[in-house]
Amino acid sequence: MTYDCSFLADLPLDGPVSFEESVRENNAADWAAREAGLGVLPDVVVWPTSTEDVVAVLEAAHEREVPVTPYAAGTSLEGNAVPQFKGISLDMTRMDAVLEVRPDDFQLDVEPGVMGNVADEAAADHGMFFPPLPSSGKLSTIGGMIVNDASGQQTVKYGEVADWVLELEVVLSDGSVIEAGSRAVKTSSGYNLKDLIVGSEGTLGVVTRATLELEGRPEQIRGGRAVFAELDDAAEAVFDVVRSGVDVAKIELIDPLAGEMANRYLDTGLPDAPMIFVEFHANHGIDEEIAFFETIIEAHDVERFEIDDEERMAELWRARDELAFAAQQYDPDLEPGHPGDVTVPISRYPDIIRYAKDLANEHDILLPCFGHAGDGNVHYSALVDPEDEAMLERAETVYDAIVEQAIAWGGTATGEHGIGMGKRKFLELEHGAAGVQAMRAVKAALDPKDILNPGKIFPETEAEGGRVDLSAF
Ligand SMILES: Cc1cc2nc3c(=O)[nH]c(=O)nc-3n(C[C@H](O)[C@H](O)[C@H](O)COP(=O)(O)OP(=O)(O)OC[C@H]3O[C@@H](n4cnc5c(N)ncnc54)[C@H](O)[C@@H]3O)c2cc1C
Repeated sequence: MTYDCSFLADLPLDGPVSFEESVRENNAADWAAREAGLGVLPDVVVWPTSTEDVVAVLEAAHEREVPVTPYAAGTSLEGNAVPQFKGISLDMTRMDAVLEVRPDDFQLDVEPGVMGNVADEAAADHGMFFPPLPSSGKLSTIGGMIVNDASGQQTVKYGEVADWVLELEVVLSDGSVIEAGSRAVKTSSGYNLKDLIVGSEGTLGVVTRATLELEGRPEQIRGGRAVFAELDDAAEAVFDVVRSGVDVAKIELIDPLAGEMANRYLDTGLPDAPMIFVEFHANHGIDEEIAFFETIIEAHDVERFEIDDEERMAELWRARDELAFAAQQYDPDLEPGHPGDVTVPISRYPDIIRYAKDLANEHDILLPCFGHAGDGNVHYSALVDPEDEAMLERAETVYDAIVEQAIAWGGTATGEHGIGMGKRKFLELEHGAAGVQAMRAVKAALDPKDILNPGKIFPETEAEGGRVDLSAF
Protein backbone atom coordinates (compact mmCIF):
# COMPACT_ATOMS: atom_id res chain seq x y z
CA MET A 1 0.00 0.00 0.00
CA THR A 2 1.27 3.49 -0.77
CA TYR A 3 0.36 6.53 1.33
CA ASP A 4 -0.70 9.95 0.16
CA CYS A 5 1.95 12.14 1.76
CA SER A 6 1.02 15.37 -0.01
CA PHE A 7 0.08 16.81 3.42
CA LEU A 8 3.81 17.32 4.01
CA ALA A 9 3.75 20.29 1.61
CA ASP A 10 1.51 22.16 4.06
CA LEU A 11 3.77 21.66 7.09
CA PRO A 12 6.08 24.48 8.21
CA LEU A 13 9.25 22.40 7.74
CA ASP A 14 12.73 23.91 7.51
CA GLY A 15 14.18 20.70 6.07
CA PRO A 16 13.55 19.46 2.51
CA VAL A 17 11.06 16.85 1.29
CA SER A 18 11.57 14.69 -1.81
CA PHE A 19 9.27 12.43 -3.79
CA GLU A 20 12.03 11.74 -6.39
CA GLU A 21 12.41 8.04 -7.14
CA SER A 22 16.21 8.11 -7.09
CA VAL A 23 16.15 9.72 -3.64
CA ARG A 24 13.59 7.25 -2.34
CA GLU A 25 15.68 4.40 -3.72
CA ASN A 26 18.63 5.45 -1.57
CA ASN A 27 16.49 5.15 1.57
CA ALA A 28 14.83 1.91 0.47
CA ALA A 29 17.55 -0.31 1.90
CA ASP A 30 20.22 -0.49 4.54
CA TRP A 31 23.68 -2.02 4.12
CA ALA A 32 22.65 -5.68 4.31
CA ALA A 33 19.39 -5.26 2.40
CA ARG A 34 21.25 -3.43 -0.36
CA GLU A 35 23.80 -6.26 -0.51
CA ALA A 36 20.97 -8.75 -0.82
CA GLY A 37 19.25 -6.69 -3.51
CA LEU A 38 16.25 -6.11 -1.22
CA GLY A 39 14.51 -2.90 -0.35
CA VAL A 40 11.15 -1.19 0.00
CA LEU A 41 10.65 2.24 -1.55
CA PRO A 42 9.28 4.79 0.90
CA ASP A 43 6.64 7.12 -0.53
CA VAL A 44 8.68 10.17 0.42
CA VAL A 45 11.92 11.19 2.13
CA VAL A 46 11.90 14.05 4.66
CA TRP A 47 15.06 15.56 6.15
CA PRO A 48 14.19 17.31 9.42
CA THR A 49 16.68 19.97 10.52
CA SER A 50 15.22 20.56 13.99
CA THR A 51 13.18 18.94 16.75
CA GLU A 52 10.28 21.15 15.60
CA ASP A 53 10.45 19.57 12.13
CA VAL A 54 10.32 16.06 13.65
CA VAL A 55 7.37 17.07 15.84
CA ALA A 56 5.47 18.49 12.85
CA VAL A 57 6.02 15.34 10.74
CA LEU A 58 5.06 12.95 13.53
CA GLU A 59 1.96 14.89 14.58
CA ALA A 60 0.69 14.88 10.99
CA ALA A 61 1.68 11.26 10.31
CA HIS A 62 0.08 10.14 13.56
CA GLU A 63 -3.20 11.82 12.69
CA ARG A 64 -3.23 10.09 9.27
CA GLU A 65 -1.70 6.79 10.44
CA VAL A 66 1.16 7.02 7.97
CA PRO A 67 4.24 4.87 8.79
CA VAL A 68 7.44 6.78 9.62
CA THR A 69 10.77 4.98 9.50
CA PRO A 70 13.76 6.90 10.85
CA TYR A 71 16.81 6.58 8.61
CA ALA A 72 20.37 7.67 9.33
CA ALA A 73 23.52 6.41 7.55
CA GLY A 74 21.82 3.15 6.55
CA THR A 75 24.62 0.86 7.75
CA SER A 76 22.29 -1.44 9.68
CA LEU A 77 22.78 -5.13 9.00
CA GLU A 78 19.29 -6.52 9.77
CA GLY A 79 17.01 -4.34 7.63
CA ASN A 80 16.46 -2.08 10.69
CA ALA A 81 16.15 1.13 8.65
CA VAL A 82 14.22 -0.32 5.67
CA PRO A 83 10.71 1.22 5.46
CA GLN A 84 8.94 -2.11 5.27
CA PHE A 85 5.47 -0.57 4.99
CA LYS A 86 6.49 2.45 2.88
CA GLY A 87 5.25 5.82 4.10
CA ILE A 88 7.81 8.40 5.25
CA SER A 89 11.54 7.81 5.48
CA LEU A 90 12.60 10.33 8.14
CA ASP A 91 16.22 10.97 7.22
CA MET A 92 18.06 12.26 10.30
CA THR A 93 21.39 13.01 8.61
CA ARG A 94 20.87 16.78 8.42
CA MET A 95 20.52 17.06 12.19
CA ASP A 96 24.26 16.67 12.45
CA ALA A 97 25.54 19.36 14.80
CA VAL A 98 27.98 18.82 17.63
CA LEU A 99 26.18 21.05 20.14
CA GLU A 100 28.44 21.32 23.16
CA VAL A 101 31.39 19.63 24.83
CA ARG A 102 31.52 19.99 28.62
CA PRO A 103 35.01 18.73 29.48
CA ASP A 104 34.58 19.26 33.24
CA ASP A 105 31.66 16.83 33.22
CA PHE A 106 33.11 14.52 30.52
CA GLN A 107 29.97 15.15 28.45
CA LEU A 108 29.10 15.83 24.85
CA ASP A 109 25.75 17.00 23.44
CA VAL A 110 25.04 16.08 19.82
CA GLU A 111 22.26 15.96 17.32
CA PRO A 112 21.58 12.36 16.23
CA GLY A 113 22.88 12.66 12.67
CA VAL A 114 26.47 13.37 13.76
CA MET A 115 28.83 10.70 12.43
CA GLY A 116 30.57 8.62 15.09
CA ASN A 117 34.07 9.72 14.17
CA VAL A 118 33.03 13.40 14.16
CA ALA A 119 31.70 13.07 17.72
CA ASP A 120 34.88 11.23 18.69
CA GLU A 121 37.06 13.97 17.16
CA ALA A 122 35.11 16.65 19.06
CA ALA A 123 35.90 14.71 22.23
CA ALA A 124 39.55 14.28 21.18
CA ASP A 125 39.96 18.08 21.02
CA HIS A 126 39.53 17.97 24.80
CA GLY A 127 41.72 14.90 25.45
CA MET A 128 38.74 12.53 25.63
CA PHE A 129 37.08 9.85 23.51
CA PHE A 130 33.74 8.08 23.04
CA PRO A 131 34.66 4.49 24.01
CA PRO A 132 31.89 2.30 22.52
CA LEU A 133 32.38 3.45 18.93
CA PRO A 134 31.60 0.51 16.58
CA SER A 135 33.88 -0.67 13.76
CA SER A 136 31.53 1.31 11.51
CA GLY A 137 32.21 4.49 13.52
CA LYS A 138 33.27 6.39 10.39
CA LEU A 139 30.23 5.21 8.42
CA SER A 140 27.39 5.54 10.90
CA THR A 141 25.67 8.14 13.07
CA ILE A 142 25.41 8.53 16.83
CA GLY A 143 21.60 8.30 16.54
CA GLY A 144 21.85 4.98 14.68
CA MET A 145 24.30 3.69 17.28
CA ILE A 146 22.03 4.65 20.17
CA VAL A 147 18.92 3.20 18.64
CA ASN A 148 20.66 -0.06 17.62
CA ASP A 149 22.60 -0.11 20.92
CA ALA A 150 25.82 -0.60 19.01
CA SER A 151 29.09 -1.66 20.55
CA GLY A 152 32.64 -1.99 19.37
CA GLN A 153 36.10 -3.33 19.88
CA GLN A 154 36.54 -1.44 23.16
CA THR A 155 33.32 -2.74 24.67
CA VAL A 156 35.25 -5.46 26.50
CA LYS A 157 36.76 -2.74 28.72
CA TYR A 158 34.31 0.15 28.50
CA GLY A 159 30.86 -1.30 27.77
CA GLU A 160 28.32 -0.76 24.97
CA VAL A 161 26.65 2.44 23.72
CA ALA A 162 23.87 2.06 26.31
CA ASP A 163 26.48 2.56 29.04
CA TRP A 164 27.56 5.94 27.59
CA VAL A 165 24.20 7.63 26.96
CA LEU A 166 23.11 9.93 29.77
CA GLU A 167 20.14 11.83 28.40
CA LEU A 168 18.01 11.81 25.26
CA GLU A 169 15.50 14.19 23.77
CA VAL A 170 12.93 12.00 22.05
CA VAL A 171 9.87 12.77 19.94
CA LEU A 172 7.17 10.18 20.52
CA SER A 173 4.82 8.88 17.83
CA ASP A 174 2.14 11.55 18.49
CA GLY A 175 4.67 14.39 18.35
CA SER A 176 5.09 14.88 22.10
CA VAL A 177 8.66 15.52 23.26
CA ILE A 178 10.26 13.86 26.28
CA GLU A 179 13.61 14.21 28.04
CA ALA A 180 14.69 10.72 29.06
CA GLY A 181 17.53 10.14 31.52
CA SER A 182 19.60 12.81 33.25
CA ARG A 183 22.93 14.57 32.96
CA ALA A 184 23.74 13.29 36.41
CA VAL A 185 25.83 10.10 36.18
CA LYS A 186 23.24 8.22 38.20
CA THR A 187 19.51 8.52 38.71
CA SER A 188 16.79 6.32 40.11
CA SER A 189 14.00 8.68 39.18
CA GLY A 190 11.03 6.78 37.76
CA TYR A 191 11.04 4.31 34.88
CA ASN A 192 14.25 4.31 32.88
CA LEU A 193 12.79 5.58 29.59
CA LYS A 194 16.26 6.40 28.28
CA ASP A 195 17.29 2.75 28.28
CA LEU A 196 13.99 1.80 26.68
CA ILE A 197 14.77 4.06 23.72
CA VAL A 198 18.34 2.74 23.46
CA GLY A 199 18.11 -0.35 21.25
CA SER A 200 14.50 0.33 20.21
CA GLU A 201 15.42 0.55 16.49
CA GLY A 202 13.22 3.58 15.82
CA THR A 203 10.06 1.77 16.90
CA LEU A 204 9.33 3.81 20.05
CA GLY A 205 10.43 7.37 19.30
CA VAL A 206 12.78 9.57 17.30
CA VAL A 207 15.94 10.73 19.05
CA THR A 208 16.59 14.41 18.37
CA ARG A 209 19.38 15.15 20.85
CA ALA A 210 21.74 13.07 22.97
CA THR A 211 24.03 13.74 25.89
CA LEU A 212 26.89 11.26 25.81
CA GLU A 213 29.43 10.49 28.47
CA LEU A 214 33.11 10.58 27.51
CA GLU A 215 36.30 9.01 28.84
CA GLY A 216 39.70 10.62 29.29
CA ARG A 217 42.27 9.38 26.78
CA PRO A 218 44.66 6.94 28.51
CA GLU A 219 48.31 7.93 28.80
CA GLN A 220 49.52 4.55 27.55
CA ILE A 221 48.12 2.62 24.57
CA ARG A 222 49.90 -0.47 23.23
CA GLY A 223 48.68 -3.11 20.83
CA GLY A 224 49.82 -6.46 19.52
CA ARG A 225 49.07 -9.77 17.89
CA ALA A 226 49.13 -13.35 19.16
CA VAL A 227 49.37 -16.18 16.65
CA PHE A 228 48.20 -19.72 17.46
CA ALA A 229 48.50 -23.08 15.72
CA GLU A 230 44.89 -24.02 16.41
CA LEU A 231 41.72 -21.93 16.41
CA ASP A 232 40.61 -23.77 19.51
CA ASP A 233 43.68 -22.54 21.39
CA ALA A 234 43.04 -18.96 20.34
CA ALA A 235 39.38 -19.10 21.46
CA GLU A 236 40.30 -20.79 24.77
CA ALA A 237 42.96 -18.13 25.31
CA VAL A 238 40.37 -15.36 24.88
CA PHE A 239 38.17 -16.98 27.52
CA ASP A 240 41.08 -17.40 29.90
CA VAL A 241 42.27 -13.80 29.43
CA VAL A 242 38.81 -12.42 30.24
CA ARG A 243 38.19 -14.87 33.09
CA SER A 244 41.55 -14.01 34.64
CA GLY A 245 40.74 -10.32 34.66
CA VAL A 246 43.48 -9.14 32.30
CA ASP A 247 42.64 -5.50 31.62
CA VAL A 248 42.36 -5.62 27.82
CA ALA A 249 40.80 -2.68 25.98
CA LYS A 250 40.29 -4.69 22.79
CA ILE A 251 40.59 -8.40 22.10
CA GLU A 252 39.46 -9.63 18.70
CA LEU A 253 39.64 -13.11 17.22
CA ILE A 254 40.59 -13.47 13.55
CA ASP A 255 40.23 -16.97 12.16
CA PRO A 256 42.54 -18.08 9.31
CA LEU A 257 39.88 -17.46 6.65
CA ALA A 258 39.23 -13.93 7.95
CA GLY A 259 43.01 -13.36 7.96
CA GLU A 260 43.26 -14.57 4.35
CA MET A 261 40.37 -12.25 3.38
CA ALA A 262 42.18 -9.30 4.99
CA ASN A 263 45.40 -10.19 3.16
CA ARG A 264 43.67 -10.28 -0.22
CA TYR A 265 41.82 -7.04 0.43
CA LEU A 266 44.54 -4.89 2.00
CA ASP A 267 47.73 -6.87 1.47
CA THR A 268 48.16 -6.96 5.24
CA GLY A 269 50.76 -9.75 5.28
CA LEU A 270 49.04 -11.68 8.07
CA PRO A 271 50.06 -15.29 8.73
CA ASP A 272 47.74 -18.05 7.61
CA ALA A 273 46.86 -18.93 11.21
CA PRO A 274 44.34 -18.14 13.96
CA MET A 275 45.12 -14.84 15.66
CA ILE A 276 44.11 -12.54 18.46
CA PHE A 277 44.52 -8.78 17.99
CA VAL A 278 44.78 -7.07 21.36
CA GLU A 279 45.12 -3.55 22.76
CA PHE A 280 45.87 -2.30 26.28
CA HIS A 281 44.97 1.08 27.78
CA ALA A 282 46.41 2.35 31.05
CA ASN A 283 47.62 5.44 32.78
CA HIS A 284 50.44 3.49 34.40
CA GLY A 285 51.67 -0.08 34.65
CA ILE A 286 50.87 -1.16 31.09
CA ASP A 287 53.96 -3.41 30.86
CA GLU A 288 52.77 -5.44 33.85
CA GLU A 289 49.37 -5.92 32.23
CA ILE A 290 50.98 -7.06 28.98
CA ALA A 291 53.18 -9.50 30.91
CA PHE A 292 50.06 -10.85 32.66
CA PHE A 293 48.41 -11.34 29.26
CA GLU A 294 51.47 -13.19 27.95
CA THR A 295 51.45 -15.55 30.91
CA ILE A 296 47.85 -16.48 30.19
CA ILE A 297 48.25 -17.07 26.46
CA GLU A 298 51.41 -19.12 26.96
CA ALA A 299 49.22 -21.71 28.67
CA HIS A 300 47.31 -22.01 25.38
CA ASP A 301 50.19 -22.92 23.08
CA VAL A 302 50.61 -19.47 21.59
CA GLU A 303 53.18 -19.65 18.78
CA ARG A 304 54.12 -16.00 18.71
CA PHE A 305 53.17 -12.77 20.47
CA GLU A 306 54.36 -9.41 19.25
CA ILE A 307 53.67 -5.89 20.40
CA ASP A 308 53.51 -3.84 17.21
CA ASP A 309 54.35 -0.18 16.73
CA GLU A 310 51.56 2.35 16.39
CA GLU A 311 51.67 2.44 12.60
CA ARG A 312 51.49 -1.35 12.18
CA MET A 313 48.72 -1.58 14.77
CA ALA A 314 46.71 1.06 12.91
CA GLU A 315 47.08 -1.09 9.76
CA LEU A 316 45.88 -4.18 11.62
CA TRP A 317 42.89 -2.45 13.18
CA ARG A 318 41.99 -1.11 9.77
CA ALA A 319 42.14 -4.65 8.39
CA ARG A 320 39.84 -5.78 11.22
CA ASP A 321 37.43 -2.86 10.69
CA GLU A 322 37.18 -3.58 6.99
CA LEU A 323 36.61 -7.33 7.12
CA ALA A 324 33.06 -6.81 5.84
CA PHE A 325 34.50 -5.22 2.69
CA ALA A 326 37.20 -7.90 2.48
CA ALA A 327 34.48 -10.58 2.47
CA GLN A 328 32.81 -8.89 -0.51
CA GLN A 329 36.03 -8.98 -2.55
CA TYR A 330 37.36 -12.37 -1.47
CA ASP A 331 36.08 -14.47 -4.37
CA PRO A 332 34.29 -13.11 -7.46
CA ASP A 333 31.95 -16.16 -7.45
CA LEU A 334 30.96 -15.89 -3.79
CA GLU A 335 29.06 -13.24 -1.88
CA PRO A 336 28.87 -12.81 1.89
CA GLY A 337 25.44 -13.80 3.19
CA HIS A 338 23.46 -12.49 6.14
CA PRO A 339 26.03 -11.30 8.74
CA GLY A 340 25.87 -13.20 12.03
CA ASP A 341 26.23 -11.50 15.42
CA VAL A 342 25.56 -14.02 18.17
CA THR A 343 26.93 -13.39 21.66
CA VAL A 344 27.34 -15.98 24.39
CA PRO A 345 28.50 -15.94 28.01
CA ILE A 346 32.29 -15.85 27.81
CA SER A 347 32.71 -19.41 29.16
CA ARG A 348 30.84 -20.60 26.04
CA TYR A 349 32.97 -18.61 23.62
CA PRO A 350 35.32 -21.47 22.63
CA ASP A 351 32.27 -23.76 22.27
CA ILE A 352 30.41 -21.45 19.92
CA ILE A 353 33.48 -20.95 17.72
CA ARG A 354 34.00 -24.73 17.52
CA TYR A 355 30.31 -25.28 16.88
CA ALA A 356 30.15 -22.70 14.08
CA LYS A 357 33.29 -23.94 12.30
CA ASP A 358 32.36 -27.64 12.58
CA LEU A 359 28.86 -27.00 11.31
CA ALA A 360 30.15 -24.96 8.37
CA ASN A 361 32.62 -27.74 7.45
CA GLU A 362 29.88 -30.34 7.73
CA HIS A 363 27.71 -28.33 5.31
CA ASP A 364 30.62 -27.44 3.02
CA ILE A 365 30.24 -23.71 3.61
CA LEU A 366 33.07 -21.16 3.86
CA LEU A 367 32.42 -19.31 7.11
CA PRO A 368 34.92 -16.69 8.33
CA CYS A 369 34.57 -16.13 12.09
CA PHE A 370 35.81 -13.00 13.81
CA GLY A 371 34.47 -10.36 16.16
CA HIS A 372 34.60 -8.77 19.57
CA ALA A 373 35.80 -11.95 21.21
CA GLY A 374 36.19 -10.56 24.73
CA ASP A 375 32.44 -9.91 24.83
CA GLY A 376 31.68 -13.47 23.65
CA ASN A 377 30.55 -11.90 20.36
CA VAL A 378 31.03 -13.85 17.10
CA HIS A 379 30.57 -12.33 13.67
CA TYR A 380 30.33 -14.77 10.79
CA SER A 381 29.06 -14.61 7.27
CA ALA A 382 28.68 -17.56 4.94
CA LEU A 383 30.33 -16.97 1.58
CA VAL A 384 27.79 -18.20 -0.95
CA ASP A 385 27.21 -18.49 -4.67
CA PRO A 386 23.92 -16.56 -5.07
CA GLU A 387 22.97 -18.75 -8.06
CA ASP A 388 23.36 -21.99 -6.12
CA GLU A 389 20.04 -22.66 -4.36
CA ALA A 390 21.32 -25.73 -2.52
CA MET A 391 24.29 -23.81 -1.17
CA LEU A 392 22.04 -20.93 -0.06
CA GLU A 393 19.85 -23.41 1.78
CA ARG A 394 22.85 -25.02 3.49
CA ALA A 395 24.15 -21.60 4.53
CA GLU A 396 20.77 -20.68 6.01
CA THR A 397 20.74 -23.96 7.97
CA VAL A 398 24.19 -23.18 9.38
CA TYR A 399 23.22 -19.59 10.16
CA ASP A 400 20.01 -20.54 12.01
CA ALA A 401 21.65 -23.38 13.94
CA ILE A 402 24.38 -21.07 15.28
CA VAL A 403 21.79 -18.57 16.52
CA GLU A 404 19.70 -21.31 18.12
CA GLN A 405 22.75 -22.82 19.81
CA ALA A 406 23.88 -19.43 21.13
CA ILE A 407 20.43 -18.88 22.66
CA ALA A 408 20.44 -22.40 24.13
CA TRP A 409 23.75 -21.57 25.86
CA GLY A 410 22.25 -18.49 27.50
CA GLY A 411 23.38 -16.08 24.79
CA THR A 412 21.60 -13.78 22.39
CA ALA A 413 20.70 -13.76 18.69
CA THR A 414 22.30 -10.35 18.36
CA GLY A 415 25.02 -8.71 20.41
CA GLU A 416 24.91 -5.37 18.63
CA HIS A 417 23.15 -5.32 15.24
CA GLY A 418 19.60 -5.50 16.59
CA ILE A 419 16.62 -7.58 15.51
CA GLY A 420 15.41 -5.50 12.54
CA MET A 421 13.68 -7.80 10.08
CA GLY A 422 16.40 -10.42 9.87
CA LYS A 423 16.23 -11.79 13.41
CA ARG A 424 12.49 -11.48 14.18
CA LYS A 425 12.02 -15.21 13.98
CA PHE A 426 14.35 -15.73 16.96
CA LEU A 427 12.75 -13.18 19.31
CA GLU A 428 10.36 -15.61 20.96
CA LEU A 429 12.99 -18.33 21.27
CA GLU A 430 15.19 -15.88 23.15
CA HIS A 431 12.59 -14.10 25.30
CA GLY A 432 9.65 -16.52 25.47
CA ALA A 433 6.08 -15.74 24.48
CA ALA A 434 5.47 -13.72 27.65
CA GLY A 435 8.62 -11.69 27.09
CA VAL A 436 7.56 -10.80 23.55
CA GLN A 437 4.07 -9.95 24.81
CA ALA A 438 5.55 -7.56 27.38
CA MET A 439 7.54 -5.89 24.58
CA ARG A 440 4.37 -5.56 22.50
CA ALA A 441 2.65 -3.91 25.48
CA VAL A 442 5.43 -1.32 25.64
CA LYS A 443 5.13 -0.70 21.90
CA ALA A 444 1.35 -0.36 22.22
CA ALA A 445 1.69 2.16 25.05
CA LEU A 446 4.17 4.40 23.24
CA ASP A 447 3.03 3.95 19.64
CA PRO A 448 -0.61 2.75 19.73
CA LYS A 449 -1.11 3.33 16.01
CA ASP A 450 2.08 1.41 15.12
CA ILE A 451 3.40 4.17 12.86
CA LEU A 452 7.04 4.11 13.99
CA ASN A 453 9.17 1.73 11.94
CA PRO A 454 6.37 -0.87 11.69
CA GLY A 455 7.28 -4.47 10.95
CA LYS A 456 10.53 -4.46 12.93
CA ILE A 457 11.59 -6.48 15.97
CA PHE A 458 8.35 -8.44 16.48
CA PRO A 459 7.86 -11.89 14.95
CA GLU A 460 6.01 -11.64 11.71
CA THR A 461 2.70 -13.48 11.41
CA GLU A 462 0.74 -14.05 8.24
CA ALA A 463 -2.41 -12.57 9.78
CA GLU A 464 -0.65 -9.37 10.71
CA GLY A 465 1.22 -9.11 7.44
CA GLY A 466 4.17 -8.05 9.57
CA ARG A 467 2.37 -5.20 11.36
CA VAL A 468 2.29 -5.38 15.13
CA ASP A 469 -1.13 -6.48 16.36
CA LEU A 470 -1.77 -4.07 19.20
CA SER A 471 -5.47 -4.87 19.55
CA ALA A 472 -4.93 -6.97 22.68
CA PHE A 473 -3.45 -4.07 24.64
C1 LIG B 1 31.16 -2.46 7.77
C2 LIG B 1 30.23 -2.43 8.94
C3 LIG B 1 30.73 -2.64 10.22
C4 LIG B 1 29.88 -2.61 11.33
N1 LIG B 1 30.41 -2.79 12.56
C5 LIG B 1 29.63 -2.68 13.64
C6 LIG B 1 30.19 -2.82 14.96
O1 LIG B 1 31.38 -2.99 15.17
N2 LIG B 1 29.33 -2.73 16.00
C7 LIG B 1 28.00 -2.48 15.84
O2 LIG B 1 27.29 -2.38 16.83
N3 LIG B 1 27.46 -2.35 14.61
C8 LIG B 1 28.22 -2.43 13.52
N4 LIG B 1 27.67 -2.28 12.27
C9 LIG B 1 26.22 -2.02 12.15
C10 LIG B 1 25.82 -0.52 12.05
O3 LIG B 1 26.88 0.26 11.53
C11 LIG B 1 25.40 0.06 13.40
O4 LIG B 1 24.23 -0.56 13.88
C12 LIG B 1 25.14 1.58 13.35
O5 LIG B 1 25.00 2.04 14.66
C13 LIG B 1 23.93 2.00 12.55
O6 LIG B 1 23.95 3.42 12.42
P1 LIG B 1 23.37 4.17 11.14
O7 LIG B 1 23.64 5.63 11.31
O8 LIG B 1 23.86 3.57 9.90
O9 LIG B 1 21.81 3.92 11.34
P2 LIG B 1 20.73 3.32 10.34
O10 LIG B 1 21.18 2.01 9.85
O11 LIG B 1 20.35 4.33 9.32
O12 LIG B 1 19.51 3.15 11.36
C14 LIG B 1 19.62 2.29 12.45
C15 LIG B 1 18.31 2.13 13.19
O13 LIG B 1 18.07 3.31 13.94
C16 LIG B 1 16.86 3.95 13.55
N5 LIG B 1 17.21 5.37 13.65
C17 LIG B 1 18.22 6.03 13.03
N6 LIG B 1 18.29 7.29 13.51
C18 LIG B 1 17.32 7.41 14.46
C19 LIG B 1 16.91 8.46 15.33
N7 LIG B 1 17.50 9.66 15.34
N8 LIG B 1 15.87 8.22 16.18
C20 LIG B 1 15.25 7.03 16.20
N9 LIG B 1 15.60 6.00 15.39
C21 LIG B 1 16.65 6.20 14.54
C22 LIG B 1 16.53 3.38 12.19
O14 LIG B 1 15.14 3.34 11.97
C23 LIG B 1 17.09 1.98 12.31
O15 LIG B 1 16.17 1.16 12.97
C24 LIG B 1 28.49 -2.35 11.15
C25 LIG B 1 27.99 -2.13 9.87
C26 LIG B 1 28.83 -2.17 8.78
C27 LIG B 1 28.25 -1.90 7.41
